[in-house]
Amino acid sequence: MIGGSRAKNIFKKLTKEYVFERSKPFTGSPFGNFVRADLAIEARKRTLFLPFEYKVKASVGQGGWAAVPWLAFFDPIITESATKGVYIVFLVNPIDETLILSMNQGTTVVFEQFGVIRGLEVLKRRAIDLYDLVPEYSRNFDLGPIRLGSEEKLPKGYEAGHAFGRTYNLEQIESDQLDADLELMFHAYKALVDRGANTPIDLLHEESGTADIEETRRYILSRRIERAPEVRKKVLKAKPPICEGCGLDPKLHYSFTGKEINIPLDVHHSKPVHQLAEGETARYRVPDDFLVLCPNCHRMIHLQADPSNLAELKRKISFVLPQGIPKNRLF
Ligand SMILES: [Zn+2]
Ligand SMILES: [Zn+2]
Repeated sequence: MIGGSRAKNIFKKLTKEYVFERSKPFTGSPFGNFVRADLAIEARKRTLFLPFEYKVKASVGQGGWAAVPWLAFFDPIITESATKGVYIVFLVNPIDETLILSMNQGTTVVFEQFGVIRGLEVLKRRAIDLYDLVPEYSRNFDLGPIRLGSEEKLPKGYEAGHAFGRTYNLEQIESDQLDADLELMFHAYKALVDRGANTPIDLLHEESGTADIEETRRYILSRRIERAPEVRKKVLKAKPPICEGCGLDPKLHYSFTGKEINIPLDVHHSKPVHQLAEGETARYRVPDDFLVLCPNCHRMIHLQADPSNLAELKRKISFVLPQGIPKNRLF
């Protein structure tokens, strides 16, 4: 269930009444507030039982009514925003009065990079890749195309970016099918994240320095975990902001005075990558599975056969950083 039948009721109301509601002023609309808050809260309840953490967001537009209201689930490992990356989204077609569950993509960033016309092509291509990446899940859904009933840029982007999903009419919104589909969609999303989602595989090969596809995926997974903003925040909060390899202390050695979160140190996922099986994406422990490293040490540890071996890295370091306050500092 999407947090019980309440979420479904909201969905139904949204699908049925949106055209009417958006003829009224946007600012202060009780309907808008109701969708934004209540729907997201109900949907969030649904994710509480998952072994992984998703961000949930509902929108009826910013500063004005959107052509297509939506509710999205983001895996913070790859995206926390509807503008980029791959995510699960419920889209409302208010004209046809249908609700569409979709594995879809952020369009804004693609349009910025490629322009709208080329961007739509890029989104379509990537949608096929997403479908092919998790066939055991995607085959259970409809390939599309989906119809959102609007000629605006964002709905057109969502139509192009749709990888797989299902369209429900008002009656079907209340069916058990929708619950089962969402459940399966969560697993499909998880598999997509684990398998590298939209990153071209040849690029991944290059970065990981291995030709083995499984090893490449695990490497990318590890890097994604490290780069997830939430993970970085939590690790830097739990550990001193000093490189655990060479002892570099940016505050001391570079007079770094910026915000703690912007300190020039990396967060390294130090669980042996070969032990990281698919489906373990969110089962990392913060901070135990992470090291704080300066960018150089981070690079070096990834060159090791075992990038989790801190002792090996330390043995290789043959310089000693000056201790205490550098003499050229005035205070
Ligand atoms: Zn270091
Ligand atoms: Zn790393």
